[in-house]
Amino acid sequence: MSDCLFCKIVNKEIPATIVYEDNYVVAFNDISPQAPKHVLVIPKKHIASFDHLTEEDNKEIIPYVFTAINKIAKDLDISEEGYRVVNNCGKMGGQTVGHIHFHLLGGRQLMWPPG
Ligand code: IMP
Repeated sequence: MSDCLFCKIVNKEIPATIVYEDNYVVAFNDISPQAPKHVLVIPKKHIASFDHLTEEDNKEIIPYVFTAINKIAKDLDISEEGYRVVNNCGKMGGQTVGHIHFHLLGGRQLMWPPG
């Protein structure tokens, strides 16, 4: 989508620190990190939110996203100590960018429950 911030990152129209990329997925450092390691992992396909995932997306795209998260956690050296994967969905879920993304957070003790 031409007016989507994260599509612009996928298309390299705006800069980001990309830490991982394959045919289906891009991952980049969050511009406002909430932990020492904070990466956003997104499908290249524009999907507005978790709630907009189709059965086809869940079979054909999301497995690549989760595989990437596993790999990035290892690359960031947070695999053994633990980390958090978060998706904020819609207004009440706290989503602020309308392109589905998974936060990968680590490098400090994370608290629960979230705010
Ligand atoms: P949400 O609140 O779950 O939708 O998360 C959106 C995230 O995108 C926030 O953590 C923002 O800090 C992050 N963000 C917004 N704009 C940019 C950008 O241009 N580059 C990287 N991260 C961004």
